[in-house]
Amino acid sequence: MNDSASDVVIVGAGPYGLSTAAHLQNLGLEVRIIGTPMRFWNENMPEGMYLKSEAFASNLGAPQPGMAFTDRHPDWRTGQPIPLETFVAYGRWFAAEAVPGTEPTDVVSVERGGPAGYVVTLATGEAIAARAVVIAVGVGPFAHIPDELSGMPSWLVSHSSSHRDLGLFAGRDVAVVGAGQSALETAVLLADAGARPHLLARREVLDWNSVPAERRSPRAKIIGGPRSGLGTGYRTWLWAERPGLVRFVPYAKRQRIVRETLPPAGAWWLRDRLDERVQVSTGRLLAKAIEQDDGVAVTTVDHTGRRIVTEVEHVIAATGFVPDIQRLTVLSPEIRVRVDTRSSSPVLTRDFESSLPGLYFAGLAAAATFGPVMRFVHGADFAGRRIARHIIRRTPRAAAPPRRAQAAFEANRPQGGTPQR
Ligand SMILES: Cc1cc2nc3c(=O)[nH]c(=O)nc-3n(C[C@H](O)[C@H](O)[C@H](O)COP(=O)(O)OP(=O)(O)OC[C@H]3O[C@@H](n4cnc5c(N)ncnc54)[C@H](O)[C@@H]3O)c2cc1C
Repeated sequence: MNDSASDVVIVGAGPYGLSTAAHLQNLGLEVRIIGTPMRFWNENMPEGMYLKSEAFASNLGAPQPGMAFTDRHPDWRTGQPIPLETFVAYGRWFAAEAVPGTEPTDVVSVERGGPAGYVVTLATGEAIAARAVVIAVGVGPFAHIPDELSGMPSWLVSHSSSHRDLGLFAGRDVAVVGAGQSALETAVLLADAGARPHLLARREVLDWNSVPAERRSPRAKIIGGPRSGLGTGYRTWLWAERPGLVRFVPYAKRQRIVRETLPPAGAWWLRDRLDERVQVSTGRLLAKAIEQDDGVAVTTVDHTGRRIVTEVEHVIAATGFVPDIQRLTVLSPEIRVRVDTRSSSPVLTRDFESSLPGLYFAGLAAAATFGPVMRFVHGADFAGRRIARHIIRRTPRAAAPPRRAQAAFEANRPQGGTPQR
């Protein structure tokens, strides 16, 4: 028994869900977008964090002009880090303007069946019959804790995405595992909060990104290559700005590109903040962790084979996110089995559709197909645009006039127009 029906249901209201909804609403479809706007950013990233992406690479996508971060903050300079709360406020503003009517609840299951092809059940108990479903649940479900640390109770070992308030660790010894921006920033923020962080990194040397030049000479542009949403360089530009072409790169090479583009490194502006308050041990391979007294003993192995035990009260694994469709428990077991996958990621068409017609994946789950930009906000406009165009081509009511979002946008448009993107 279905309570309601909709052309499309979007699961998740982060940058990809919101961008997809904005493109779809403008095309005149009935779209339900389920999720609290920017919830992952607001609840699962640490207070005091700054974005690593530049302002021009932190735009959500919409068909109407004036909706980019750089439109909202036209004076934001290249090299000026964006505070987390500024980005969350931008995302919420975007949601209110371009996608009115987001529903702050959860999808509890997506199943095949019903009159339209899919039944999406919400935490409220409502079941929606939908022709198309866009899975835009982000990175959260794919939080990765290495085997050596898994199975430990959450009060001893947690993933970096479990923390918004690192002040909870004030006065405590905390190991942070990892060497990427998340690990380095977590360690610094722990120190700021009065904890005693100890960074355990597999890399022999920590890597840091260089300061981006606000202006570059024509010669520097030719030698260094164009600037893009993922950084500077000819190849990087291709992966960032032409994700549609990345699909044609042979699979093994594509996976290497996903892994190796923007490898673990700290933002330039964080470097000076990683001072003597943070103990740093590099070249350490995790071996095991055991619970002891009120804490954890983490054993690591250095390059000589020496085993070193680090005793702390808590371990934060800042070890990233690994897409795996089996971890998307919001999808029914039948869907998880039936969607074609390769290395646990869904195989997607040029329009982000999986092997089950009408079921789309956006964001990290699409990185295996469209490359590394899908790990970042910068890929959201491309994904949203492609998914929307495909759904509209498939939907009988394609010619319907634009609905409430566009009307609301037009009504609220500032006098004198808004800047073009
Ligand atoms: C610490 C950290 C820092 C980062 N910094 C940057 C950066 O500077 N620049 C950058 O480009 N990228 C950054 N990223 C990557 C960033 O997470 C992605 O670029 C971005 O969030 C992708 O958007 P998304 O919509 O796919 O995912 P999300 O932002 O995670 O949004 C998905 C949303 O879906 C919701 N959701 C999940 N399941 C359900 C459900 N069943 N029902 C309803 N809602 C659901 C979640 O709560 C979440 O709000 C960072 C990631 C981390 C962890």
